[in-house]
Amino acid sequence: MVTDSTARPPRPARAESREALELQSIRARHPELAAAVDMHLELLELQRRIQGRVPLPMLDLSADTLRRHQLEARPLLRFEDIPLDLTDLRLMVRQTADVLRRFGALEQPDYDKAQTLGRDMQLLAAVGRWYRGAAERQLAVAGVAAAAHDLGDDTALGQVIALAMRPFLSRCAEVLQQRAELANWAHTHCALCGGEPDFAVITPSAERHLICGRCSLRWKFEPLTCPYCRNTDRTRITSFATTDGQYRVYACDVCQRYLKAYDGRRASRPVMPMVDSVATLPLDAAAMQRGYTS
Ligand SMILES: [Zn+2]
Ligand SMILES: [Zn+2]
Repeated sequence: MVTDSTARPPRPARAESREALELQSIRARHPELAAAVDMHLELLELQRRIQGRVPLPMLDLSADTLRRHQLEARPLLRFEDIPLDLTDLRLMVRQTADVLRRFGALEQPDYDKAQTLGRDMQLLAAVGRWYRGAAERQLAVAGVAAAAHDLGDDTALGQVIALAMRPFLSRCAEVLQQRAELANWAHTHCALCGGEPDFAVITPSAERHLICGRCSLRWKFEPLTCPYCRNTDRTRITSFATTDGQYRVYACDVCQRYLKAYDGRRASRPVMPMVDSVATLPLDAAAMQRGYTS
């Protein structure tokens, strides 16, 4: 693993405590979300502790490389380039599973599997399979290869790994996020890791930026095209907002999936995916009631 340990910036403690404050204010306003808030406060604290010591990755982000990846729609970050510390990763897998189990978000058999995985010599291989699975799914969608997978993001173990990997992948995303060439990326999956968007933000200039569910990279995407099936027929996109205008849902009547967005046009703070995903749990219920899936 080649990493540049001298490039560690100071721990961004202020940003994270702001997320915690926002979560606490959600709990005060919506007591019915208290359990979800408390679980995410604990996950946030786990991630904050690890993320502060993850070095920035050494990535080849030359204009040539960026252009080639853009053309081939291939994610930039190879698994080998993620600055993984195996001890920290083991800790993240086991402690993430502990938190999820304690809040009833993980069944006992899946918890046992996660604990075993966290101690297993094969952990890196399994996480590598999970990581590459996203890019393989993109190829499968394009009809190039079939993806059969035991560690998909939709499996319980895949979700544990996704949360455990977030501190490492978020640090990698910081590097690419600053590059102007990212504006050329027009694909439905993440330019860095190949993950799917699981949230979005509407900017003050009314652009929609998708947010990767794995690494939190943000990239611009047409506001009314479905990022899951590329449906562009606006009559087959259902869009509705919360009464306070803070959040919006885009639901696709072709693939039946939906995406939530934070409307930054009248917002007092930036989008915070972990906070906003908790604040919009009632929207998930509304979308699912209408027959859509996340
Ligand atoms: Zn990503
Ligand atoms: Zn769709």
